[in-house]
Amino acid sequence: MTTGSSPPRLFPIFADLRGRCVLVVGGGTVARRKVAALLEAGARVTVGAPALEASLKQLADERRIEHRRGRFDPNWLNDAWLAIAATDSVATNRAVAEAGEARRVWVNVVDDAGQSSFQVPSRVERGPVQIAISSGGGAPMLARHLREQLEIQLDESLGALATLLTRQRARIRARWPELGARRRFFERVLRGAVPSLLRRGDHAAARETFERTLAEDASDSRGSVALVGAGPGDPGLLTLRGLRVLNEADVILHDRLVSAEVLALVRRDAELIEVGKQAGWHHAPQETIHALMLEHARAGKRVVRLKGGDPFVFGRGGEELEFLHAHGIDFEVVPGITAAVACAAYAGVPLTHRDHAQSVRLVTAHCRDSADALDWRSLAQERQTLAVYMGVAGLPQLRERLLAHGRAAGTPFALIENGSRPQQRVITGTLAELPEIAQAHSVVSPALLILGEVAALARELHWFGSEPLSTVASTSADRARESLPQAA
Ligand code: SAH
Repeated sequence: MTTGSSPPRLFPIFADLRGRCVLVVGGGTVARRKVAALLEAGARVTVGAPALEASLKQLADERRIEHRRGRFDPNWLNDAWLAIAATDSVATNRAVAEAGEARRVWVNVVDDAGQSSFQVPSRVERGPVQIAISSGGGAPMLARHLREQLEIQLDESLGALATLLTRQRARIRARWPELGARRRFFERVLRGAVPSLLRRGDHAAARETFERTLAEDASDSRGSVALVGAGPGDPGLLTLRGLRVLNEADVILHDRLVSAEVLALVRRDAELIEVGKQAGWHHAPQETIHALMLEHARAGKRVVRLKGGDPFVFGRGGEELEFLHAHGIDFEVVPGITAAVACAAYAGVPLTHRDHAQSVRLVTAHCRDSADALDWRSLAQERQTLAVYMGVAGLPQLRERLLAHGRAAGTPFALIENGSRPQQRVITGTLAELPEIAQAHSVVSPALLILGEVAALARELHWFGSEPLSTVASTSADRARESLPQAA
């Protein structure tokens, strides 16, 4: 028995109650609901109570349940695998819970998670498919709400589909003994016409299509690579297409920039390989990444190359595709929400607000070479927004060059660290003090700089995470000027 304030961590199981005795204590309407569910699961139900309400009484008369008349007696638990206490007497419910505990019989006290050693989840059923939802017992209304949403989303045909696959299980295994091939077969079925035929109620055509798919050779056992953008960190910003491709992957090569929350969404049995660094590409083992993609794709695997943000925005996605193309490997690309777009949204910075900017430029200036190659004169122009990637280490020279080419010292900036993640920080100020302010707040990677009049709007329009931080005292700024920012 647990009575803490935080919900216990429960272990979900689906119990086979067929022919097993379950005791329900209480003879009212709550007991009736529980008895109905237990009978549906094939349990042998005994109801213990001084008296039964009408429909329970009828069940007892029909010998579909057994009635033990009287007040609760711990011996009622003798044959029971489970017990449910559904009386309106707190004392009786507690007596059942305590007797159950002593005899190692799992007891659920209706609407009292603290007294219960097991709980009955909210559930959604589609034929043999059952989805059980628990809030740990503390927020049953929330679980119920989730259940309603799932009821809306999950198609009725799911039950028919599960039944079909269950019946054909042995044949499927015999046809595709190897796990990977079997999984691909299932995906062909699930993404093919069978579900929609079942949805339309055309079982004959569904069966025919199923048979054809089973007979077919797995023509797509050729490996392939999908370049997928994982977005900036918030898993809600991954695209649906990205999620589906991840669900089909055998191997996932991901950057460190990809958040743990996104990685938590990938299929459990996919092989996850971390490659590359968090930011910058000086020492990125690009050849290793190429070699890994090639090796796994040639072995017939479905490889996902998962990158932070969008794969084509400073992500070396282009080079990877050129490599795959040169080696004759099939590929596809799933875009992601790039850091500039995500950070702007999550910091309340409308990148091209019509009062302030006519264009937005995505640039990187992470090292001297890349900085030298930039057209600073055009970058310093007014009425445009700069989104600078991988810029934390290059802030002093960025300021120097923009000022030298005429950008006003008072141009606002917003530095967004860990954009869209729970630990997001937004730091604002003006170009004049940019490196010092970044240094004073110890900005770390990943961080994106947005420079331009629109950046000032973050102070009004921020909505996510904590308030934007702003200017630091000039003394610490002066001190910071001595040692320039290191992080990148
Ligand atoms: N392909 C990625 C960018 C890779 S370069 C994209 O489209 O977003 C890595 C740089 O992206 C980082 O140094 C940082 O400037 C920026 N970045 C990526 N994710 C970020 C995040 N969650 N918050 C702030 N900046 C981020």
